[in-house]
Amino acid sequence: MSAGLMVWAGSVLLAVSATGVNDHPVLVAVLAATGVALGLGLMEAVRTQRLLAWLRSPQAQVPQHEEGAWGDLTYRLERILETHRRDLQREKARLADFLEAIEASPNGVLLMDANEHIVWLNTQAAHHFQLHPVRDLHQRITNLIRQPLFVQHLQSRNTQQAITLPVHDGRSISIMLRTYGEGAMLLLSQDVSERERNEAMRRDFVANVSHEIRTPLAALSGFVESLTVLRLEGGERERVLELMRQQSQRMQALVDDLLTLARLEGSPRPNPDHWFSLDDLIGRVMAEVAGLSAGRHQWHWPEPTGLELSGVESEAHSALANLLSNAVRYTPERGQIALGVQPLTDGSVALHVSDTGAGIAAEHLPRLTERFYRVDGSRSRATGGTGLGLSIVKHVCQRHGGQLRIESEPGVGSVFTLVWPALRVRGGVEQGASDLLGAESALLPWAPRGRER
Ligand code: ADP
Repeated sequence: MSAGLMVWAGSVLLAVSATGVNDHPVLVAVLAATGVALGLGLMEAVRTQRLLAWLRSPQAQVPQHEEGAWGDLTYRLERILETHRRDLQREKARLADFLEAIEASPNGVLLMDANEHIVWLNTQAAHHFQLHPVRDLHQRITNLIRQPLFVQHLQSRNTQQAITLPVHDGRSISIMLRTYGEGAMLLLSQDVSERERNEAMRRDFVANVSHEIRTPLAALSGFVESLTVLRLEGGERERVLELMRQQSQRMQALVDDLLTLARLEGSPRPNPDHWFSLDDLIGRVMAEVAGLSAGRHQWHWPEPTGLELSGVESEAHSALANLLSNAVRYTPERGQIALGVQPLTDGSVALHVSDTGAGIAAEHLPRLTERFYRVDGSRSRATGGTGLGLSIVKHVCQRHGGQLRIESEPGVGSVFTLVWPALRVRGGVEQGASDLLGAESALLPWAPRGRER
């Protein structure tokens, strides 16, 4: 019994004896026992209230200095609560980690209850569907994403197949639905725009290649038919054979360019330690394109530069030859074609191929390096073009860390500039380096406008 309780019981007894009832010891005992019981009950009530107050409110102070069973009870409850508190904190931290991991996912994750209300979503999902991560919580998802395809898919609860939804900025999102718990749903979203684009490009590419091959193939089989059915003699027969040769050359050129592109795409970045002479390269290309021009153009070639470039020589050769053969094919007779070599202030070297040919309208320039893109299809085919030349040049540039710039003006001419990066250039006779955009365009009277491809 606590000291307070004993004092209280003593005072009751004293009070009772003072009233002169000590002649009735039984009464005194009963009164004293009642008093003690009342006192004990009161104290228990106070302790219980204190304990309950503490249990009700975690902020309330823990009851102190309790003794006996109450103290023990308080202590044990306190330990149980503390364990629970720690477990809760641990679980909270785990949940936070878990949500952080989902947040880091490149895919969208959105949770819905059985009534299609949004319960939680990560930033990616918010971005995919243009939702607000806080404001749109607890909203019915079909009020926010109203596309019929989406609504239909959600209502069908189809968890087997994904659908692809066109969303903002021309992007495509693939959506997969999963159900869990009691009708709750998990919606996984993934941006498949790139994949769709590649797939479309692949389809276009196959269609283009088939188209390019079908035409000469049809012509060839027509000629074979003519030779078989008709009894062609002398000159006529020679003419048909010549046409057949041209068509098979066209197919050969196409296959060669396709293989070159495939090689460029599939091989590792060119070795920076393999050096070759730019002057030797120019010498070889000169001989080739002079044959192609057959004296129809006026040529301007650079002085020996003494420069060495690093990378794959055959690729540099292919890029330069493509640019120069284009200049030959798109420049009319007596036109001028020039190759200029210009060291730039940053140590890189610009190779300008300029012509006074047909020129190209501005709207075509951004698409010129796409495979099979042609400004004038019939002219390209008539001169043996495959539509892949500039694609090859662009790939060679990119693989070597360089750039391809195209400037052109219809009726005036074009300048194709191939910039070989500084770390792949060495040597050279001393000459004033200049900045590309400030420099005179190689032998053309009009100034370059500096477009990059
Ligand atoms: P192609 O085999 O058709 O020449 P390219 O990829 O080499 O294919 O060139 C793409 C298109 O760019 C050509 O079809 C042509 O219309 C245009 N082009 C390329 N070079 C020139 C040039 N020097 N002058 C005018 N047009 C050009």
